[in-house]
Amino acid sequence: MSTREPLAPPRAPDQQTQPPAVELNGIVKRFGSTTAVDNVALSIESGELLTLVGPSGCGKSTLLRMIAGLMQPDAGEILLAGRPVFGPSASVPPEDRSVGLVFQENTLFPHLNVRDNIAFGLKGKSRRQVASRVAEVLELVELGSFLKRFPHELSGGERQRVALARALAPEPTVLLLDEPFANLDPNLRSQVRGQTVEILRRAGASVLFVTHDQLEAMSLGDRVAVMGSGRVEQIGSPKTVFHLPTSRFVAASLGEAYFLPVTLCGNGQIDCEAGRCASDCQLTGDRMEIMVRPHDVTFRVDPAGSGRVVGIEFQGAHILYQVQLPSGRRLRCQLPHTTDVPLGTAVAVQLAHGHEPVVLPARAE
Ligand code: ADP
Repeated sequence: MSTREPLAPPRAPDQQTQPPAVELNGIVKRFGSTTAVDNVALSIESGELLTLVGPSGCGKSTLLRMIAGLMQPDAGEILLAGRPVFGPSASVPPEDRSVGLVFQENTLFPHLNVRDNIAFGLKGKSRRQVASRVAEVLELVELGSFLKRFPHELSGGERQRVALARALAPEPTVLLLDEPFANLDPNLRSQVRGQTVEILRRAGASVLFVTHDQLEAMSLGDRVAVMGSGRVEQIGSPKTVFHLPTSRFVAASLGEAYFLPVTLCGNGQIDCEAGRCASDCQLTGDRMEIMVRPHDVTFRVDPAGSGRVVGIEFQGAHILYQVQLPSGRRLRCQLPHTTDVPLGTAVAVQLAHGHEPVVLPARAE
């Protein structure tokens, strides 16, 4: 099965005529000698959920804050629904940008009940309109009966759902979420994450979701933008960025990845220490490497095999076996929990890519 696919998912017909919810061109932000955001260009289509993932300090929050208008770029242009809000001819203040924000910290007003927290962002509407919209968004987040509760009377997950309702209430052009589940404990986190996606889909919102969690980025996003050192390194569907990363950085940002030197055999095959596999690799060069993730490699017990099991990590549903290859390189193989191979066993390693393998130029030593 090939995982090659267009970088952007096809848009629904009614979206094709709409301008992107967000369009960034050449955005730069410096703090002294640090370039926090370095010439970033990206767009978020109407109704799309784009996740922005990258290590701490790579510039994600700075980018989000500039879209919201909480910080001014040093260069570039920002358009929201086709309207310039920052650039050579525009500088629209945050309150006029039609942007909703949800942060990781609890930002509800402690002295206001749920109703008043949500109504806060609905200035300029009649009492009846406010009451109706508050009821609507509370239904959306399934907290319809919580109108009179105060923030301290809510669980962490409920508080985040109220924060989401408050951000959605004015029907913003784009909703910006910055690590919204970071403060929730792991069990609650996956539950609230599922609920949040359902809510965002029902609302048809255009969303930029910032996270440093690769699984969160891939499971939530229609597309994933991988950021490193102020730059967007790759944007694509979760499958594309995971299976077809264009750099070692992107590969490693989205999960465990090993790189083994390869030789091209010239017959549509490539050869490496972990075996041979088919590849339509068009790269030429004398130093190239194949990316191998733990599920891309398997082994069979073979007393004449050149690999050796040197580590075993039981993970419940599967087992990660660390195997040492003759060169001394080590990689981990993900095998079913039903396998039971003792430490020290000699094994023959085989590549088991279910998709076109990724071959990249070797990293300079
Ligand atoms: P991320 O959200 O990916 O963790 P940030 O956008 O918060 O990263 O930060 C990017 C870089 O910019 C970091 O090096 C950080 O220290 C720096 N930075 C962010 N905000 C400021 C600020 N207000 N003043 C100085 N440096 C900042």
